[in-house]
This record gives sequence, structure tokens and C-alpha cells, in this order.
Amino acid sequence: MSTLPNCPSCHSEYTYEDGGVFICPECAHEWSLEVETPNGEEAKVVKDANGNVLTDGDSVTVIKDLKVKGSSSTLKMGTKVKNIRLVDGDHDIDCKIEGFGAMKLKSEFVKKA
Ligand SMILES: [Zn+2]
Repeated sequence: MSTLPNCPSCHSEYTYEDGGVFICPECAHEWSLEVETPNGEEAKVVKDANGNVLTDGDSVTVIKDLKVKGSSSTLKMGTKVKNIRLVDGDHDIDCKIEGFGAMKLKSEFVKKA
């Protein structure tokens, strides 16, 4: 238990771990190791509903019926989406779907094909 990091906020060494989160009892600061990347650069990892890592150019399948904003149509479960592009934001997949055109999806509603 000597490998616990000091509190990044007040440098207290009386930190402890709880469920993957580090907690400082002195200043109540909470942090997780994932936040602390060596060069301050956070590699963005987008995962599908099954936890598989998605990359640009992947093909995915929609896993549930999704309402299309500004349209009366529904994107049906099982729809194949080819050549996705990962983007920043709430909807982290940019793609084109036949019959719909350009669209943004959430990675949690797709799985890697
Ligand atoms: Zn602290």
C-alpha cells in the first residue's frame, strides 16, 4: 500500500483508494488515475456498446431503434453503418447512412460489425 500517489491538490500522503478512485482525507479531493496522463494529453477512446474500441473507418451496427432528429423516420436496429468517423462531443460518431445522409450517432448505441 506504499504506492498510493500523494494528493495532487494538497500533497497529503494520507490518500486512500476506493473503487478505483483516489481520495484525500485532508482536503476531500477525489481523482482517478485515468485523469493523470503523463504528458497531459488524453487519448480519446471511443467504445461500442460491448466495450470494443472503435476506430475511424470501422463498420458498426445500430443496436436499437433510434429516432432521427428533425425527421419522422427511425433508424432501425440492425442498420449497418460503414466507414464511421470518430469526433468529439456527445454524439461521438460521424457517418453517412444510406437513405438518411450524414448523421451523428452515439457510440453506446452501436456495436462493431
Ligand atoms: Zn488533498
